[in-house]
Amino acid sequence: MKRIGVMTSGGDSPGMNACIRAVVRGAIYNDMEVYGIRRGYEGLIDGEIEEMDVSSVADIIHRGGTILRTARSDRFLTKEGFARALNMLETFGIEGLAVIGGDGSLRGGVDLSQAGITVMGLPGTIDNDLPYTDYTIGFDTAVNTALMAIGNTRDTSSSHGRTTIIEVMGRHCGDIALYAGLAGGAETILVPEEALDVADICKKLLIGKNRGKLHSIIIKAEGVNISSEELRTTLEDRTGLETRVVILGYIQRGGSPTARDRLLASRTGYRAVELFRDGSASKAIGVRGEEIIAVEIGDALKTPKRSNAPEIIQLSDILS
Ligand code: ATP
Repeated sequence: MKRIGVMTSGGDSPGMNACIRAVVRGAIYNDMEVYGIRRGYEGLIDGEIEEMDVSSVADIIHRGGTILRTARSDRFLTKEGFARALNMLETFGIEGLAVIGGDGSLRGGVDLSQAGITVMGLPGTIDNDLPYTDYTIGFDTAVNTALMAIGNTRDTSSSHGRTTIIEVMGRHCGDIALYAGLAGGAETILVPEEALDVADICKKLLIGKNRGKLHSIIIKAEGVNISSEELRTTLEDRTGLETRVVILGYIQRGGSPTARDRLLASRTGYRAVELFRDGSASKAIGVRGEEIIAVEIGDALKTPKRSNAPEIIQLSDILS
């Protein structure tokens, strides 16, 4: 393969830049030309495409966000938009496309691969919701950001003797809440994968209070089927304990990527280049254990993600 493209798509995640860097420098090292496509599928449709060189990706490995910018594209989901996207790839002579994004972006990659483009999907999302890979690029940084917030909140909660609900991202997948909750010593972890039991939370809070516990941290993924404010009033009404809500929101998406995310981004990005170089069919690239893996892109999202929520919640209950 002589010429490839690289884009970031969907929600941004820390480590996307490190991944772009690996694709660009890896491609040039292997004698391929590499074109950067701005604003994901939206920019592809509009021809926002430019050749990159080694210095295009200088000084970005440590930066959050994405230098190629990102977007969600409704036009790509239409017949006309999709045809324009294919046309643009043909116009620029791009034979292979590295798509860095979450499940929606990789599904777009599956469509392009069925239309004859070789696509390498790279798991760029903080959500860790892709079933074929143990971890996604950006997840570790998001967990560490949430962990820092838990630490800071714990100081205030304990000084004032309060219960605090910390809401983190995760509409369908509660992994940020699970990992940050366990690592941060949260008393309760609430995720969309598990049924909500308000009576049980109240019981735990009151048992804690009766043994002299001054504060409690509840970490809750946004996708749990009760709003944080509603949960706050319910807990206060039922336990009489002062309860506050902290919603972390977008701060979880930004920031300098952790070492783990930079390593994952660099290793998966370079694997994509090797696969292009070796004439491979379209793949989704990820990690299992310590090993970088590549699976058929069409199979990557077929099975639902296995959740380890029950074991992490049980461990958190035992240890907190
Ligand atoms: P994140 O999980 O971080 O939000 P994502 O990649 O899942 O990232 P989406 O907004 O779901 O983000 O998808 C990004 C873009 O991918 C969409 O705007 C759309 O253009 C394309 N896309 C999404 N779903 C599909 C699909 N089922 N088939 C084809 N293309 C899709």
